Amino acid sequence: MTLREPPGERGEALEQAIEEAARLIAASRHVVALVGAGLSAESGVPTFRGPEGLWTKHGEPDLRDYERFVEDPKRWWEMRRDRANRLGELVQALETAVPNPGHLALRDMEEMGRLKHIITQNIDNLHQLAGSQAITEIHGNRTKLRCVLCNQRWPVEGFLLDELPPKCPDCTAGIVKGDTVMFGEPIPRDALDDCINQSQMCDCMLLVGTSAVVYPAAQFPVDVKSAGGSLIEVNPNETPLTGLCDVVLRGPAGETLPLVVEKLRAAR
Ligand code: NAD
Ligand code: ZN
Repeated sequence: MTLREPPGERGEALEQAIEEAARLIAASRHVVALVGAGLSAESGVPTFRGPEGLWTKHGEPDLRDYERFVEDPKRWWEMRRDRANRLGELVQALETAVPNPGHLALRDMEEMGRLKHIITQNIDNLHQLAGSQAITEIHGNRTKLRCVLCNQRWPVEGFLLDELPPKCPDCTAGIVKGDTVMFGEPIPRDALDDCINQSQMCDCMLLVGTSAVVYPAAQFPVDVKSAGGSLIEVNPNETPLTGLCDVVLRGPAGETLPLVVEKLRAAR
C-alpha cells in the first residue's frame, strides 16, 4: 500500500497496515527502531541513496576518508576548520534541520513505553532534539568529538582547539576527531556492543528510512528475524529487506509513524 494510491483503496490498505503495525508493537516486549537517513528527509536533510539521494545526483563518495585522516590528522582538522567540505549541501541542511513528525512519533512511542531503543545511522542529532532518550548512534553525532583510542566524547561547542590535531584530555594518548564515523573507519566498539545487545533483546524491529545495505546495521534486522522476532518497514521505496518484513508501511515516515502512534493511543 502506498500513500500515492487513490484515496479509497489507499485508505483501506494503509489503515490495515497501520493497525497491524500497532498490534505487533503492542504485543512485543522489546521494540527497537533501526533508523536511516530517510527519517530526516522530511526535515530537509538529503539522503545518500534513493531517487533524490546525494550519491544518485552527484556520484559515489571517496571511500578513503578515514585512511586520509590517519595519514594526516592535522590536515583533516584544518579542512574541517575551513569548512572545505565536498558534502556542502548536506552540511548546510544539517545546520538548520529540526525534527519532523516522524522523529516526534518515535519519541511518543518511547514515552508510552512501547519503544525501548533507537539505533540510528543518522548523525544529525535530531532524535535528541525531538526528546528521545535511549539512542545509540552507530555512525556518531555531528555535534560531538571523539577520542579514536578511548572513545570518550565531548560536545564540539567549547572544546579547546589550541593545537591541531587535538590530543585526548582523558587518556592523553589518543587523537581527537569528529564523532561522525568516516568512510573506512571502524564503528566505535561501545556503540557496536550496544547495537548487538539491543538486537538480541529485540522481538520487533521498526526499519525506518533505511535502505538496509550499510553493514553492520543491515545485519541487525536479519538477526532479529532469524531469532523469531518481527520486522516492520517504514519506507516509501522497496529495500532489500522488504521481503523479510511482516508489515510494510509504504509511505513517508513523517506521515505514517504518527498514525501508528494514534492507533497505539486508541488501544490503551
Ligand atoms: P540511505 O541514504 O542509504 O537511504 C535512505 C532510505 O530512506 C532509502 O531507502 C529511501 O527510500 C528512504 N526514504 C526516503 N525518504 C523517506 C521518508 N520520507 N520516510 C522514510 N524513508 C524514506 O540511508 P541509510 O541507509 O541511512 O545510509 C546512509 C548513511 O549515510 C547513513 O548510515 C548515515 O550515516 C549517513 N547519512 C546520514 C544523514 C543524517 O544524519 N540525516 C543524512 C545522509 C546520510
Ligand atoms: Zn582518549
